[in-house]
Amino acid sequence: MRFTTLAMHFQTVALLGAASIARAADPAAPDAWAAAYTKATAAVAKISQQDKVNIVTGVGWSKGPCVGNTSPVGAISYPQLCLQDGPLGVRYASGVTAFTPGIMAAATWDLELMRQRGQYMGTEAKGCGIHVLLGPVGGPLGKVAEGGRNWEGFGPDPYLTGLAMAVTTEGMQAGGVQASSKHFIGNEQELNRETMSSDIDDRTMHELYLWPFADAVHSNTASVMCSYNKLNGTWACENDKILNDLLKKELGFKGYVMSDWNAQHSTAPAANNGLDMTMPGSDYNGMTVLWGPQLNNAVNSGQVSKEKLDDMAKRILAAWYLTGQDSSFPQINLKANVQANHKENVRAVARDGIVLLKNNGVLPLKKPSKLAVIGSAAVNNPQGINSCTDRGCNTGALGMGWGSGTADYPYFIAPYDAIKTRAQTDGTTVTLVDNDNAGQVAGAASGADAAIVFITADAGEGYITVEMNAGDRNNLDPWHNGNQLVQAVAGANKNTIVVVHSVGPIILETILALPGVQAVVWAGLPSQESGNALVDILYGLTSPSGKLPYTIAKAQGDYGTSVVRGDDKFPEGLYIDYRHFDKAKIEPRFEFGFGLCKFCLPNPKKPPYCATQETHYFISSLHKLHLLRH
Ligand code: BGC
Repeated sequence: MRFTTLAMHFQTVALLGAASIARAADPAAPDAWAAAYTKATAAVAKISQQDKVNIVTGVGWSKGPCVGNTSPVGAISYPQLCLQDGPLGVRYASGVTAFTPGIMAAATWDLELMRQRGQYMGTEAKGCGIHVLLGPVGGPLGKVAEGGRNWEGFGPDPYLTGLAMAVTTEGMQAGGVQASSKHFIGNEQELNRETMSSDIDDRTMHELYLWPFADAVHSNTASVMCSYNKLNGTWACENDKILNDLLKKELGFKGYVMSDWNAQHSTAPAANNGLDMTMPGSDYNGMTVLWGPQLNNAVNSGQVSKEKLDDMAKRILAAWYLTGQDSSFPQINLKANVQANHKENVRAVARDGIVLLKNNGVLPLKKPSKLAVIGSAAVNNPQGINSCTDRGCNTGALGMGWGSGTADYPYFIAPYDAIKTRAQTDGTTVTLVDNDNAGQVAGAASGADAAIVFITADAGEGYITVEMNAGDRNNLDPWHNGNQLVQAVAGANKNTIVVVHSVGPIILETILALPGVQAVVWAGLPSQESGNALVDILYGLTSPSGKLPYTIAKAQGDYGTSVVRGDDKFPEGLYIDYRHFDKAKIEPRFEFGFGLCKFCLPNPKKPPYCATQETHYFISSLHKLHLLRH
């Protein structure tokens, strides 16, 4: 089985990479932080205890222009700090680019595109006067395929996610914004995220969940956001072991730890155990404030030492100096038009992240005279592309999941719009069925040279429930009766092309082998350039080169992990995604790293893949890059 070799290769890579964690704290390594710390030390010496408390304490929920805000300190010309989501661009802003989600960037396996994506996000954030952009996401890693927020990050392989974290962080900070690598750590599902404990053993912690954060630290991430859950029984945001021992001592992290929103639970223990900034500074009612005056009292009574408070303030100031925000930083303006040419990165990522799963020769399209385009996901949400707050619905074309990790679309090129534009140049007649009613598609599908049918699966953050999915997905099936829709289309047209827009794996067994299904195009989460990117691939303007950043199983149960109730003991240890399939000798439908490299007919002797060589090539080039970096 090919995937066995692949998995072993990764184990080797993981072992080689283990040395890089040790190198993180290498005292001989050049220290990008040294100058910033010199300035921060001088600044801290000039300010009062109250100033320091103000630097580490958010002003309270919805009390400022951004999702997180602190108070200015005049004596050192330190501004009111603006912290804003999120991992794919600036949330709640009107003149920004909606970049592709992390999982799409991961599917390109293209570090330069990822770096550019980060840099453009950083430039846009700075252009809006935002000091801290709340991303990238290295956790959830994706141990549970149904996990609601997996799409915000880069997938369940820590090595790929680590490199993506590294280049994204470097790109963002080169653009002038502070990165906040999140969520630290073990927040792998939405259900009970604010009450449960993630109990993770030391080896699993190091080799899986900590790994991407080690890469972010190597890349000088300004901050790290601690998560809602407990770790081995202690809240992540007051956990001495993970914050002081692992992050600050072992990884040598020099920036500051900020809490996830309302993830702080105590005054003195939080400070003493490693938290440096509390966000948003109160609970959502504005009633409970754990730092501010309480921290002042704790310092005055000796429960928190003055040195500790100095260290907290110094870390925050050093990050501000490190990213050059002490000179000519723009005023906060969430309406600034900062898009420039950044849509080109969106299109490139959305295109190069498309994974061709099956093609019996129907692709690329060659000037068909009649095309049928079928499914509600082929067209824009009829209520408006941003009509659901934080993308909290799955209506019309799907470009990202839902929750705080979203941005408003400046525009959205739906698949149908782009196909229609292209069809006009070819003289192709396009028939559209913009609903998912399997009973209504036969007419349109049967008369066409090829039928393109769109199916989706969505997920998001647990504060919004969409079609009974409370963040995490209820199952791994396509939404809106997608299987029946494809069956109906493929029954009527022997050249059916299935396009999947999805937050993560879906089970394809019902539709993959249908005689009419000639191609399956895994188009992931393309954001605003959806249709343009898809047309590039469907018409062969670009050869598909995306590789799956996760495994697609034959059955949901094959993953060996699922959303848990109560505490999670992480019994699977290291064995998530492809590692589990390998260990349990379960053959996946499409393995991690799979993707047809070019438009090819199946090899009659070894159907249906042609990608193995190229997959290894991609992985070994990443490996080389990793070694060069460390
Ligand atoms: C999310 C974070 C986000 C924060 C601010 C929290 O609920 O977990 O990812 O950055 O809200 O919006």
